[in-house]
Amino acid sequence: MSQNSGIIDENVICNCGNSCNVRTSRIVNNPGRRFFGCKMPKDNGGCGYFKWIDLSPGVELFKENLKEVEEERDTLKHKMKELGDKFDSLKQKLKEIKQERDCTKAKFNRLVVVVLCFLLAKIIFG
Ligand SMILES: [Zn+2]
Repeated sequence: MSQNSGIIDENVICNCGNSCNVRTSRIVNNPGRRFFGCKMPKDNGGCGYFKWIDLSPGVELFKENLKEVEEERDTLKHKMKELGDKFDSLKQKLKEIKQERDCTKAKFNRLVVVVLCFLLAKIIFG
C-alpha cells in the first residue's frame, strides 16, 4: 500500500465479481473520505457494494488536525482555569482591601469625634 501518494493499490472485488472503483465521499459527515464501490449503478444491476477505505491520507490529515485542535482546546481550557483562579485571588484581595479601608475609615471617624469632644471641652471649660 502506497498511502503517501494517496494511491490505493488494493484490489477489492464486489459481489458482482468486478474490481471496485475508488470513490470519494461527498456527504457532509465524511467529506473527502474514500471508499470502494461497485462500478455498476444500483438501478443498473449493480450489487451496491460499499466499503470505506480507512486511514486514507485525507482522513489521516483530518485526524491529525483534529488532534492539534483538541490539544489547543485543552491548553486554552487550562489557561482559562488559571486565569479564573487568578481572578478569584484578585477578587479576594480586593475584598480584603475594602475591609481594611472601611476599618480605617471607622477609626478615622472615631478619632475625629474624640478630637471634637476634646476641643469642645476646652472651649467650655477653658
Ligand atoms: Zn457489484
